[in-house]
Amino acid sequence: MYNFDFVKPSTIAEATAALAAEGAQAISGGQTLTPTLKQRLAQPAVLVSLTGIAEMKGVCLGDGGLSVGAATPHAVVAAEAAKHYPALAALAGGIGDPAVRNRGTIGGSIANNDPSACYPAAVLGSGATVITNRRRIAADDYFTGLFSTALDEGEIVTEVRFPIPQKAAYVKFNQPASRFALTGVFVAKYADGVRVAVTGASNGGVFRWSEAEAALSRNFSPAALDGLSVDAADMIHDLHGTPAYRANLVKVLTKRAVAAAG
Ligand SMILES: Cc1cc2nc3c(=O)[nH]c(=O)nc-3n(C[C@H](O)[C@H](O)[C@H](O)COP(=O)(O)OP(=O)(O)OC[C@H]3O[C@@H](n4cnc5c(N)ncnc54)[C@H](O)[C@@H]3O)c2cc1C
Repeated sequence: MYNFDFVKPSTIAEATAALAAEGAQAISGGQTLTPTLKQRLAQPAVLVSLTGIAEMKGVCLGDGGLSVGAATPHAVVAAEAAKHYPALAALAGGIGDPAVRNRGTIGGSIANNDPSACYPAAVLGSGATVITNRRRIAADDYFTGLFSTALDEGEIVTEVRFPIPQKAAYVKFNQPASRFALTGVFVAKYADGVRVAVTGASNGGVFRWSEAEAALSRNFSPAALDGLSVDAADMIHDLHGTPAYRANLVKVLTKRAVAAAG
């Protein structure tokens, strides 16, 4: 490690001011950032912890759906979202291991936008709204590519608001060592149509499978996907799976998610 300053504000306004300092960076659960610091892949001059900000924590039901504070750990979402949005709670409960779930946060997850992370699939698959210290961003505009988002310098995610679907499920094929998604699919059925978001598969990061959405909006059953296939051209190729393998997983997991959603 190396020397840096550490501040722990208690309000969003204080955090925003602290992040305006030269070389300042937010830290939430530290599950991604701490190893990055240890390897000196990032060397911020000031770390601004978001974990002491009460207004960024917790899960509550409001007019716009289920509101999740960005500094809420996965374990708390798993427990507190279960009543109103079981698919989201199950996704949170399946992330990593107990240590990761008790420290890692939804804000850190979607700010990092790892191509194999689970939360981006829920946020995009639910058509959620990402609320920051500056604006509101629709999920469709938020994820801009591998490890890349619409967030600007010094902008922090403060809350994510999820419209609650009629039915939903997330199914992931675990990478057994980390439990990240080798591929994962989130399916959500709303009154005006179905959304399907895929993580862990594409070189472009999380994406919506629009052909599946159209087919499932007509007929919400696994059989509706029979004639469809996913183009393997831009799928991730690594030691865990080929592009063709991942393309096949997308279809298999989408069918399973539809079946699980009922
Ligand atoms: C062993 C292991 C297994 C894991 N398995 C899974 C898994 O199965 N599925 C999954 O989805 N994830 C998994 N993760 C990731 C984990 O769940 C965390 O969500 C992730 O590491 C980032 O969250 P964090 O709160 O720790 O962020 P941090 O590490 O604190 O920050 C990550 C990045 O986001 C920025 N940041 C943090 N919070 C905010 C904010 N509110 N606004 C703007 N920027 C912010 C930081 O500056 C930093 O750049 C795993 C991680 C580990 C270490």
